Amino acid sequence: MNRNDMIRDAYRDFGFEDAVIDLGAAVEEQLRDRFEAIDERAEIGQIKVIRAMQEARVSEACLLGTTGYGYNDIGRDALETVYASIFHTEDALVRPQITCGTHALALALMSNLRPGDELLSPVGKPYDTLEEVIGIRPSVGSLAEYGITYAQVDLLPDGAFDYDGIRKALNDRTRMVTIQRSKGYQTRPTLSCERIGELIRFIKGIRPDVLCMVDNCYGEFVQTVEPSDMGADLVVGSLIKNPGGGLAPIGGYLAGKKECIENAARRLTSPGLGKEVGASLGVLPSLYQGLFLAPTVTASALKGAIFAAALYEHFGFDCYPKASEERYDIIQAVTLEKPERVLAFCRGIQSAAPVDAHVTPEPWDMPGYDAPVIMAAGAFVSGSSIELSADGPMKPPYNVYFQGGLTWPHARLGILKTIQSLKDSDLLPPDVSF
Ligand SMILES: *Cc1c(COP(=O)(O)O)cnc(C)c1O
Repeated sequence: MNRNDMIRDAYRDFGFEDAVIDLGAAVEEQLRDRFEAIDERAEIGQIKVIRAMQEARVSEACLLGTTGYGYNDIGRDALETVYASIFHTEDALVRPQITCGTHALALALMSNLRPGDELLSPVGKPYDTLEEVIGIRPSVGSLAEYGITYAQVDLLPDGAFDYDGIRKALNDRTRMVTIQRSKGYQTRPTLSCERIGELIRFIKGIRPDVLCMVDNCYGEFVQTVEPSDMGADLVVGSLIKNPGGGLAPIGGYLAGKKECIENAARRLTSPGLGKEVGASLGVLPSLYQGLFLAPTVTASALKGAIFAAALYEHFGFDCYPKASEERYDIIQAVTLEKPERVLAFCRGIQSAAPVDAHVTPEPWDMPGYDAPVIMAAGAFVSGSSIELSADGPMKPPYNVYFQGGLTWPHARLGILKTIQSLKDSDLLPPDVSF
């Protein structure tokens, strides 16, 4: 039996029909050059991480961790040096006490803005959870309650920056600009680091003292540069996405100007204490090892996203971004047009999971959303979206958002399962052959 037959048998044993197996192989073959380019970027990322760890003199003792106040936690301090080195920033704050991405972003904003200041988003509406942080939706403890105002300039219909609008929106009170790299739950294009750099240069050309923060969620290691290489004063993200490599059980990071990081540390702990306290408990080995794996894990997720787009385009579905487009985050949106297809897609992802595969995902009314949302995830780390996962709001045009995959074989398996699942329920367009 040759190698291909062995793989075919493994897929057959897992419930696949030959037509699906063959389509998967044919589509993968077309993507060979893309995958090679992704692997090359992962190599560059891997070297960047190892160099950063060596330069910070990461040692066995760094993995031990502390309890209590956490004074002199050399592992925590070295990890922050490593992050600063990867992002080419003066300093970084990387803590398990930062509970999620929203918390990291809230921390960055609330610590660097003062009453009377204004925050500007020049790229349209920010991520849903930030609406309550900023006070776009009134909320106890929001920036608005502290007298910090918010201005927004939407992207132009063609996705370009509205430079005139931005120039007008910048005023004497504008202290900070927030730029979201990933599209989140929108279908606007994700911003490349190069485009972010262009925007920052424009803003600094008018107001050199304005702080430019980038919400870097889902973008880390996708390109060989980061927004901080393009002039961002502060980049912020979640450790249960790309930079945690699937191993970090919790955490967020901020990397940027020394003063911005110091402000954030004083807000996270307390004025006078700053970065000096904050025990790392037992999580440092996962944060280090996860970061070590992050470039290849991100590469697996990217391959999965492109593979999914290529397969669904084969069946005529609209994909954002398209299979052939360059990637700046790991998110893939597919417009499935019918609610039953969203269900079948999510059930396919779930049935390929290492954890909770026996569970059937159902739509539910999630707080903060205006339609029931279905989510598929069988993750080792609860809610981790660098692991293979999908979610979809149950409303037209029935988009499903798909991301993650700690290994390429798992991403491949999960995506093919969605096709098999749609086929089993007769939900694929009848006029498209395999
Ligand atoms: C995930 C995400 C967030 C918020 O992160 P949580 O960890 O879910 O709180 C913010 N912005 C973007 C673009 C994200 O993708």
